[in-house]
Amino acid sequence: MNPPDLISTATQAMQNAHAPYSGYKVGAALLCSDGSVFKGCNVENASFGLSNCAERTALFSAIAAGQIDFSAIAIAASDKPDPFPCGACRQVLSEFCDTDFPVYIQQSEGYKTTTLGELLPYAFEVKND
Ligand code: ZN
Repeated sequence: MNPPDLISTATQAMQNAHAPYSGYKVGAALLCSDGSVFKGCNVENASFGLSNCAERTALFSAIAAGQIDFSAIAIAASDKPDPFPCGACRQVLSEFCDTDFPVYIQQSEGYKTTTLGELLPYAFEVKND
């Protein structure tokens, strides 16, 4: 799936967002190496700390389905600001994705391409050797 189609899928995923508190709906589309795509949306909660981001929703759904090898992620939002992933999502993605992992961010026109390494240059790691 090419980046524009992945952005389009993220926009579709955004429609299911539960964002009654912020009004900021986010969707994510995670492309797996086998070509399958997992969608995620933000799911807010009255107890704000229990809310979950679209990126982690997509990633956790994919992991639960047995996927572990990912090719790219696209993120779309219903409004400004542009939906760059939060710090928590960057760190969680770094558990499974390399620094050159492509991240496509929907813009008001088109999308921006970046990488996980650009977004999180010094990810936290624990080495168990
Ligand atoms: Zn996040």
